[in-house]
Amino acid sequence: MFPKKAHYDLVIVGGGLSGLTAAVSAGENHLDTLIIEKGRTLGGDGNYVEGAMGVDSYLQKQEEIEIDPTQLLQDELNYSHYEANAPHLKKFINQSGAIIDWLHDLGVDFVKVGPQGKSWPTIHTFTGGGQAVIATLLAKVNECGIEIVTSISAQKILQHNGHVSGLMIKNEATGQMRELAADDVILATGGYIDNPELVKKRTPLNSRLLSVSDGKSTGDGMQLAWQAGAEHYQMGAIQYGGGAIFDKTRPPFMHMASQLAAAATQEAILWVNERGDRFVNEDVNDNMCHAGSSILTQARTFSILDQAAVDHLTDVGLYKELGNSPVSPEKLDNLTTEIEHDLKNNEKYLTKADSIADLADKLNLPNLESTIERYNEVASQGKDSDFGKAADYLTPLKKGPYYAVELGVGMACALGGIRVDNDNEVLNSYGYPLEGLYAVGNDAAGMLVGDTYAVTLPGSTAGYAAFSGRNAVMSICKGKR
Ligand SMILES: Cc1cc2nc3c(=O)[nH]c(=O)nc-3n(C[C@H](O)[C@H](O)[C@H](O)COP(=O)(O)OP(=O)(O)OC[C@H]3O[C@@H](n4cnc5c(N)ncnc54)[C@H](O)[C@@H]3O)c2cc1C
Repeated sequence: MFPKKAHYDLVIVGGGLSGLTAAVSAGENHLDTLIIEKGRTLGGDGNYVEGAMGVDSYLQKQEEIEIDPTQLLQDELNYSHYEANAPHLKKFINQSGAIIDWLHDLGVDFVKVGPQGKSWPTIHTFTGGGQAVIATLLAKVNECGIEIVTSISAQKILQHNGHVSGLMIKNEATGQMRELAADDVILATGGYIDNPELVKKRTPLNSRLLSVSDGKSTGDGMQLAWQAGAEHYQMGAIQYGGGAIFDKTRPPFMHMASQLAAAATQEAILWVNERGDRFVNEDVNDNMCHAGSSILTQARTFSILDQAAVDHLTDVGLYKELGNSPVSPEKLDNLTTEIEHDLKNNEKYLTKADSIADLADKLNLPNLESTIERYNEVASQGKDSDFGKAADYLTPLKKGPYYAVELGVGMACALGGIRVDNDNEVLNSYGYPLEGLYAVGNDAAGMLVGDTYAVTLPGSTAGYAAFSGRNAVMSICKGKR
């Protein structure tokens, strides 16, 4: 259904995490607001988030977690090779704790705050996950009387005398188009991870990249902004979720709770490439984005386990923490059952053989035998003089049968393409705002990164979605007063 009225103070394009946050702020500030959402349901990838970044929140104060914001800013600028926009990152860092507190006051509950892998202790984990957050925001939006239309997409930004004047919108069910007038427009369309052509601008397209998004993040916001005169800003970063089971027959999220995936991707088990050569210190998986990048340096990647590793993980316990895997038991006590199940189903990603020679033969990995011989040698020396993996994870492979799990790379979101100012207003290539046009959430989060997602600042995209949605509305309100 098309919107009820022909004109609104504010139209928000996208009803995901950043769009709903912007809408709540608009409701609190009595703006006559409309949300248009191209999907049939609301929440976008916000439905899947685990936690949001914040510094100096009520929860960190309770837990006596202190973070020096200047040190954090410096570290993140270094991590991004200074491609992150310092003033914008600083504003986000400085307001992020207050945003967590604001969400908490709205009724969003947090279980804990802390680090994720080797990172700053910034991720505030939501009770009930992203769906609970979206439900809370949605209830507030409804309470404020904000109109929401679904199955309606934005097709074009309309401008008059250099200022945004509205949007051309489309009814996705009927194909009908209509003009809508608005004083201000916020683009909150979730970035471009589901648009292969745009992903290709950032990273070579590769069949081993597996998107875990809901499929609706097709880069509409950046394309609408570019069409309206925005700068084609750097394509930023793709959030690699590290190694993932390479299965083209079902959506990647189906393996998220798999213990086989946890063993193969998180336990710093031996990884080899398409020739059977080792190529990295496998404990790189402490940073899921670095792990993803390193896997993509090879044509194929296999994680190799022997029966001793399977027995150890099943009966004794983990070699290392499971990092970003949502699976967090102390033992992988379902591992053997999962392996047997997958072998029975002839899953292509899993191969079993009685000997290393047999495994090499089955997968055509000519150097596998010599690689394992060398790996066992460095393991016996207790020092990885080849790639520098921590000694604790140098477990020799000596006891058959042997298993190979083929890995792809999971991707959660893509950030970049639009440059905004400190009010989240979209900029042209001269650095001037396209008046009345704002971008928030993943559409603007390229401002925070270089070529690699800041996994060192965990929860930053969800935290930024909330911060930027609110930031854009505050700026619109300033202009109206
Ligand atoms: C599985 C998964 C887990 C994640 N976990 C975390 C986490 O724990 N912490 C974290 O920080 N980040 C996480 N993320 C990243 C996540 O993308 C963001 O934190 C958050 O969802 C970004 O909010 P957003 O509003 O930019 O995008 P979304 O929440 O995806 O919302 C975008 C919305 O815009 C709509 N839309 C798109 N185009 C149009 C159009 N033309 N017209 C109208 N509507 C349109 C979409 O349908 C969608 O509803 C995760 C992502 C995934 C996929």
